[in-house]
Amino acid sequence: MKDTKYIFVTGGVVSSLGKGIISSSLARLLLSRGYSVTVQKFDPYINIDPGTLNPYEHGECYVTSDGHEADLDLGHYERFTNIKTSRANNLTTGRIYRDVIEKERRGDYLGKTVQIVPHITDEIKRNVKKLGENGNYDFVITEIGGTVGDIESTPYLEAVRQLKWELGKNALFIHLTYVPYIKAAKELKTKPTQHSVKMLQQTGIQPDVLVLRTEKELPPQMCRKVAQFCNVSPEAVFQSLDAKSIYEVPLMMAAQGLDQIVLEKTETEGGHEPDLKDWNIFLDKLHNATKEINIALVGKYVELQDAYKSISESLSHAAAWNDHKLNLTYIHSEKLTEADVATKLGNMDGVIVAPGFGKRGIEGKLVALKWCREHDVPTLGICLGMQCMVIEFARNVLGYKGANSVEMDPSTPYPVIDIMEEQKNISDKGGTMRLGAYDCELMENSIPAKAYGKKKVSERHRHRYEFNEKYRQDFEENGLKCVGVNPGTKLVEVVEGEGKRWFVGTQYHPEYQSTVLNPNPLFMSFIQAAIAYSEEKK
Ligand code: GLN
Repeated sequence: MKDTKYIFVTGGVVSSLGKGIISSSLARLLLSRGYSVTVQKFDPYINIDPGTLNPYEHGECYVTSDGHEADLDLGHYERFTNIKTSRANNLTTGRIYRDVIEKERRGDYLGKTVQIVPHITDEIKRNVKKLGENGNYDFVITEIGGTVGDIESTPYLEAVRQLKWELGKNALFIHLTYVPYIKAAKELKTKPTQHSVKMLQQTGIQPDVLVLRTEKELPPQMCRKVAQFCNVSPEAVFQSLDAKSIYEVPLMMAAQGLDQIVLEKTETEGGHEPDLKDWNIFLDKLHNATKEINIALVGKYVELQDAYKSISESLSHAAAWNDHKLNLTYIHSEKLTEADVATKLGNMDGVIVAPGFGKRGIEGKLVALKWCREHDVPTLGICLGMQCMVIEFARNVLGYKGANSVEMDPSTPYPVIDIMEEQKNISDKGGTMRLGAYDCELMENSIPAKAYGKKKVSERHRHRYEFNEKYRQDFEENGLKCVGVNPGTKLVEVVEGEGKRWFVGTQYHPEYQSTVLNPNPLFMSFIQAAIAYSEEKK
């Protein structure tokens, strides 16, 4: 069995420096050298998973194929690496504690006093090693959420300190810090980095590699100074300058030799020269596209664009692969009305109606969908967006007055979207939805069947409500076809407007399975339809 190497990525000074992007970029580089890699994230909060978190708190909730509601960084990991993550790739303090407490209740600790050290730290270590234990990976990259010095991060740092002791050369620490530029003095300052490394050293961890996040290029003598102050070899100090796109970061890191240093320090052999051919083709298209495509995203969390991260990334990949630059406009569904819909959507080449929960912003989504349907604009409704497609059609085409989802109006006379049978008796909110990948059979010649080029697909879900089968015939006879169905349960997964350019609603989330090198065919098809429509309008 191979010797799995464990890379730990910590952050200092401030959050939001891009640990997730550095971890993903390193993973991309190692993969391109022929190694097998997975990336894991530890989140220091007490929630069991981010599923119950409001998107304003933490951005989008990502869903893995095994149905785990995960941190949005897992989306980056998958988009950069093309490799599926799972429940084992994302842990929170809440889950670690829950598992330890369950063991304590079962009597597994045989009467011992259960403590942070060793029981919580052992549980953290077990979860790191679990990913590498069956020899599936050459590298397990573990990103520790939060910042060094946070009370919440302490048990994680202690656990990985112990792991380094156990694993020796098979473990490596990368610390990401910030070098601010003081405008008035026209100076870059390394002191916060020095302090942050000192703080890390106080926990007993000596970083092997430093990545300095900066807005201005750091002169070589400054990197040498940092190396000297922090006991890091000068060739292991890297800078991460603001990039044109996050997908540029692997190349910026490769140019400085980050992957090379990781291989040297972990004494890893094998592999080959990095093959980044496809990655470069993508970047070339991303940066050199001259034509623009105007897409609107109608949703209620538009103030925080991280709330729709996977959708916006999927759109941007698909646009780039189709040699277009994505011009994405976020439209607040709460503020969209009949009076201004034409102004707001009038020059759009395609419209996405976003997923979501609860009543807020629903009416605006319905206004957008009515306008798109009537003006035959390429439209993709995702999850709640698909449900809204159904509601709008029921109200305005079928004449079902007051039609709704029972989520929004439990006493609607026309529950065209109903609660799923297995959801009826569930009261807990966390991890209880229909989650993860399910099969879907597509109708021959439907838009999605043509897009995917096959009739059976598997896509990820996150919902409690479903298309109400009772009304299916009425919808189909009047032009909204159910073109995708789960083969086992017969749940409707995809609807399509008959005779429309491109009017598709998916109960599933195609955005969770769209990666840079493998964009989701549905997004590709949607963007192609939007491009065709924009040409047609000229
Ligand atoms: N609120 C809807 C449901 O639970 C849609 C969920 C979503 O858009 N992810 O079914």
